[in-house]
Amino acid sequence: MFMSTTLTHMAHTCDAIIVSCIDFRFQKYIHEWIEKNMPNKTYDYVGFAGSTKELDTILGQIDISVRLHSIHDVVLLHHEECGAYGPESTPERHATDLRKARETVLKKYPNLHVSLYYIHLDGTFEEIQ
Ligand SMILES: [Zn+2]
Repeated sequence: MFMSTTLTHMAHTCDAIIVSCIDFRFQKYIHEWIEKNMPNKTYDYVGFAGSTKELDTILGQIDISVRLHSIHDVVLLHHEECGAYGPESTPERHATDLRKARETVLKKYPNLHVSLYYIHLDGTFEEIQ
């Protein structure tokens, strides 16, 4: 009895992990975007200043999400005017770091689907290829 309860508990899974910056200005946009673009999906959520800027830290969170929740999708969000980047917060730099993060995740987990977005101050989500 105890064993089966434990196993059921351990088998919980979700669809995705979403990684974003902590910046309060973007949380409402992110929430609305998730509601619209990932309806009925379940996800782990990581809020960390600069999002994937400290890539090793974020990779640790993705590792846990894969291991515990068997996720399929990774959504990485960066944004305009990011304080963690300061003067280096250019669209080009964010695109470069997002692509680097995707490449690193895929090297370790080739079966994951990784999507990248750059969020503008007006709430527009720009997909980075
Ligand atoms: Zn930020």
